[in-house]
Amino acid sequence: MTNKINQDRIEAITEAIIKVARGDFSVQVPVTDKYDHIDALAMGINMMIDDLKLKEETDKENEQIKLLNKELEEAKLKAEESERLKMAFLANMSHEIRTPMNGILGFADLLKSHVLPEEKKLEFIGLIEKSGNRMLDIINDIVDISRIESKLVTKNISTVNINDLLEQQYKFFKPRAKQKELKLSLHKGLPDENSVLETDGQKLNAVLINLVNNAIKYTKTGQVEFGYAIRQNDGQTKLEFYVRDTGIGISKEDQALIFDRFTRSKKADMDAIEGTGLGLAISKAYVEILDGKIWVESVEGEGSVFYFDVPVTEDSKMYQAVRQVDKTDVATIDCAGKKILVVEDDPVSGYFLKIALQGLSNNILVARDGQEAVDMFMDNPDLCLILMDISLPRMRGDEAVKIIRKTNTEIPIIAQTAYCMEGDKEHLKAIGCNDYLGKPVKMDLLLKTVQNYMERGCTRCLKYKSSNVEK
Ligand code: ADP
Repeated sequence: MTNKINQDRIEAITEAIIKVARGDFSVQVPVTDKYDHIDALAMGINMMIDDLKLKEETDKENEQIKLLNKELEEAKLKAEESERLKMAFLANMSHEIRTPMNGILGFADLLKSHVLPEEKKLEFIGLIEKSGNRMLDIINDIVDISRIESKLVTKNISTVNINDLLEQQYKFFKPRAKQKELKLSLHKGLPDENSVLETDGQKLNAVLINLVNNAIKYTKTGQVEFGYAIRQNDGQTKLEFYVRDTGIGISKEDQALIFDRFTRSKKADMDAIEGTGLGLAISKAYVEILDGKIWVESVEGEGSVFYFDVPVTEDSKMYQAVRQVDKTDVATIDCAGKKILVVEDDPVSGYFLKIALQGLSNNILVARDGQEAVDMFMDNPDLCLILMDISLPRMRGDEAVKIIRKTNTEIPIIAQTAYCMEGDKEHLKAIGCNDYLGKPVKMDLLLKTVQNYMERGCTRCLKYKSSNVEK
């Protein structure tokens, strides 16, 4: 009988140990009033369970303290970051405001205290005006960002002619680009009559002004190009704007920061270029109000492309117009099965051509350089037409045309290039291009020209097709 009782007691201890091993510290082993070895063991086990329970509670508390510390550390870093931004803002503002103030007060002083010839007076007044305008820009930026942060900025939709808006900007920026000896070009993605969109014109204008202004500001030599193209993405139609420059570029690290308020790239020579670090933050906020997004692609030392898009809703005039262009231009001939090769290194222009030509062919290949164009020509005997850009990396377009013409004199090759000089046209014809389209390529002219050559066909692709049919 005693043996059975003792056996039960030991089993209770074993069960408790198993539970404890599984992490259950709520158990306690019964202790009798015998005070024998088994009781001593049970009491020892109970003490051990109490210790483990206490340790578990302490661990949990420590975990909570660690979490709290982490949160505190993060809050501290945020506060420090905010303090750093505030200091950077103050330093920047102080510099930005003092510089034009220096100009205003300095030249006002000179005007007051010196007898000056008329032309000097006018020059100084001009400089005062310039500094005053700079002050005004800074104040406007600060007011804009404050209004955005106070959520006071809303969308004001009206009918906007995008081509008109871009042309006004082109005219506005042309003298500034000329002054810096930069080539400024504009690419309109749609014919004027179809470039009407219901959007917030003021915000669109403000974003473009800021991006083109930056492109000119941060480019010493080369060119600035801006424009837009229609994009079809995930079933959504969008107008994608771009501003490309051959300027100082932005490092990968800085690309992640520049859309934040008051942040400027960490380049050493940045102080010499005036700026508050607010323009891109304002642009980002405006684009988001327009239900779009903004991003940058850039290579340090080579240049940057800023993109932003805005939706083109299905009930908008532009959406209807784009669909109409597709339908009317395709209707006259059936070129759908014919294969076109578009050679274009710039992804935006390549995409524009692809979309624009979709009505004429459902078989469009894109090559990014001259060598790739030659390879694709060789690999695709059923190719019907080549649209060839001339200024290309790796192998120029005219080199590629010469190579293709050595083996084939019939396939229509249409050059599309920004080189618009009379001599260039002659050169392109001489090396074997059938026709020539100047950039920015006008959609209606592009469609007409391509359609014209595709109707004629070339014996190479026709031969290929008939031999394929016979097979
Ligand atoms: P800022 O007034 O300084 O130009 P922005 O917010 O417009 O302010 O731009 C933020 C920073 O992004 C600039 O200070 C500059 O470092 C960088 N940046 C903007 N645009 C360009 C560009 N086109 N090329 C190179 N850097 C640019």
